Parts: sequence; C-alpha cells; structure tokens
Amino acid sequence: MPSKALQRPYEALAEARRIPGAREAVNGALDVGAVLRRRDEIIGAPDDSALIPWVESHGITLVRGHGRIVDERRVIVGDEELEARRAVVLSVGSQPLVPALNGLGDLEPGRVWTNREATTTKEIPGRMLVVGGGPEGVELAQAFQTLGSQVTVIEAQHRVLPRAEEFASAQVTAALQECGVEVLTGQSVVNFAQDRGDVVVKTSAGSTPSGDVVLIAVGRRPTTEDLGIEAVGLEPGTLVEVDAHMRVPTVPWLYAVGDINGRALLTHMGAYQARLAVDHILGHEHAIAHGADGALAPQVTFTDPQIASVVTPAKARPARESSSTGTTPSPPAPRCQTSAASTTPQTHRAQRASLSTASGES
Ligand SMILES: Cc1cc2nc3c(=O)[nH]c(=O)nc-3n(C[C@H](O)[C@H](O)[C@H](O)COP(=O)(O)OP(=O)(O)OC[C@H]3O[C@@H](n4cnc5c(N)ncnc54)[C@H](O)[C@@H]3O)c2cc1C
Repeated sequence: MPSKALQRPYEALAEARRIPGAREAVNGALDVGAVLRRRDEIIGAPDDSALIPWVESHGITLVRGHGRIVDERRVIVGDEELEARRAVVLSVGSQPLVPALNGLGDLEPGRVWTNREATTTKEIPGRMLVVGGGPEGVELAQAFQTLGSQVTVIEAQHRVLPRAEEFASAQVTAALQECGVEVLTGQSVVNFAQDRGDVVVKTSAGSTPSGDVVLIAVGRRPTTEDLGIEAVGLEPGTLVEVDAHMRVPTVPWLYAVGDINGRALLTHMGAYQARLAVDHILGHEHAIAHGADGALAPQVTFTDPQIASVVTPAKARPARESSSTGTTPSPPAPRCQTSAASTTPQTHRAQRASLSTASGES
C-alpha cells in the first residue's frame, strides 16, 4: 500500500524512540528521498508479472482491458465478448470523491490532490491543506507532516475521526498536534481561492489557512459510471447494492464485492465478501448474518498511535451501534521529535531542492 509506505518509516522511528536503549541509537532524521524511493519500490513498475504464476496456477484466465456488461452474463472487453456460465462478479472498486466545492475547479493544475497524487508524489510540499479528517485524511496528514510538510487538517465535524470512539479520536488529535499539524474542527470549507502561489481556504468559522496544495480526503465514489450496469437496470455512478450473499437482488447472476457495494471500504472485507460470493455461486448458502460487515467491520487507522476497532458478534448483537476500540498504549514520549519535519520554510525549500536533485527534476 503506497500510503503505508509513506507512514511506515516514521512509525518505525517513533517506536524506536519510545524504547530506552534503542532510543539512544537513533539520532538522525527521516531521509525523505529514501522514503520515497522505498515507496516507489513497493508500488512497483506497472508490472504484475509476479502475480501471474499464482493466477495461472489456479486455472484463472486473465483478460486485460476495461470490462462492461452488455447482456445477461455477458461482458465485453475490447473486441472480446465473454459469457459466464453462472455469474458475473463486479469488483471494480472506488475512486476519490472530489465534490464541487466553491473555487476548487479554478485552482491551478497540480494544486488539488487526492490520495493518488499524495501517494505517488515525487516531492513533499512545503505546506499542505487536508480537507477531511477521516482515516485517510489523518493518516496522510501525519505522514506528510513527519516527512516535512506543514499540514493543516480541516474537518467539518467537531473532532477528527468522528466515527471512532471519542477517546481514540482525542489521542490522535493530540498526536497530530504534537507533530505540528494544525487541526481545525467544526468548520467546513466555504471556498477556495488562489493567491499567487498560495491555495487559500475560507472556512465556515472564518479561518483562512493556506497551503501549496490541497488534499481532498472526503470520501470515495464507486467506479460504476462506465460499467454497462444500466443494461441490467442499475444506475451508473451509484453503489451496487447487494444482499447477504453479495448478490444484486434484482439480477440473480450478478454479484458485487469490495468498495463497489459500499458496505465496508476495507481490503480484508472485500476479500471476505469475495469468498461469500464465490461460495454462493458454487451453491453454498453461507451469508453475512452477524452484522459485522458494515460500519462494525474490524479496522485499523494507521496513525501513531494506531486505532484498532474490533466488534465481536456477541458484542454486536446487543449494541450494533457501538464498537470496542483500543489504541496502542504508548508513553507520552517524543513524537515527531527529530524527524525531517522541521517546519521552517527554509527547511522545506532545502528538502524540495534535495528531492529534486535526487529525482533529476528541476
Ligand atoms: C489512502 C487509502 C488508504 C487505505 N488504507 C486501507 C487500510 O489501511 N486498510 C484497509 O483494509 N483498506 C484501506 N483502504 C481501502 C482499500 O484500499 C479498498 O477498500 C480496497 O482496495 C477495495 O478493493 P476493491 O477490490 O473493491 O477495489 P480496488 O482495489 O480499487 O480494485 C479495483 C480494480 O478494478 C479495476 N477496474 C475498475 N473498473 C474496471 C473495469 N470496468 N474493467 C476492468 N477493471 C476495472 C481497477 O483498475 C482496479 O485495479 C485504503 C484506501 C485508500 C484510498
């Protein structure tokens, strides 16, 4: 995961600094260039050859291209039309949601980031505005702050991670602030403007934070615009709703797993749903009956400290609304102390210069 590759070096450093004996051995700052190079290795070239032997060993035929439903159990990929004997499973995922906020469309190209730009960037911006304080927003805010950006998070609810337990949200807020992140809660974006090199946000509370780029982290939308689902009476651009077997109730041969059904936007839940769908296609009746497939799904927010949230079926039955959450206990010891995250403009400029040199860009 590219976002985890940006977070992991700081997490490892912070962990070492919490442990007397190890702490003394860690003196330097994060090497931002090395962090980005490792991220590139993890993302890899656009080459999936390492996975192909696994696909082939399972007797799976891989057809490359954009698929669209054209008729009952029929999918077209380029010029090739495929017909399934039993079922078609949609697992096309989701895209960043970029709402039409006032002035956002008028900002210079390259100023508006989604998770894609954030996780593939070759440079760490000097100042970053993050709109949205959910898991994606806070994870990337902490990652960029610890890599050298001065980050401001803007969250409309009264706390970041509004769906987490309040105490967990408070610990993450404190950790972000210790790192130097400015956390603006209870205020939403009124408009964006560009003032020469600055992106300036006006918020509903009258704040006007500015940055070099703005990261929009306000949610996801399903990748269903160009999937041909209108051929089976579903609406393009919307979530594909499914039953407990991951089957579309109105189309008995069609299943949808992962982000596309909107139940739980988590990798492990998509994999779990895929097993349920396949079981059902093969004639087994397993189904999600315990309710832990939506907001109650086990999940982790990979900030430092991390938030792990787990709901067992027994707990879920009496109180489906609440979850059991824990944060990794950690002493109040130095967070963000000596990373490359000094926030002076001079440091940012120096970092950008060294990154440009390393990547050969001007
Ligand atoms: C910044 C960020 C951090 C995250 N961190 C975590 C985390 O820590 N833990 C976690 O569990 N989850 C995390 N998630 C969520 C996780 O990435 C998703 O839930 C997961 O990838 C969804 O899997 P999927 O198979 O539904 O879709 P995807 O992984 O998006 O895969 C869909 C694939 O379908 C392809 N495709 C799309 N349309 C077509 C078409 N018409 N024809 C053919 N192919 C098509 C796409 O190119 C893509 O390769 C994170 C997400 C983001 C954005």
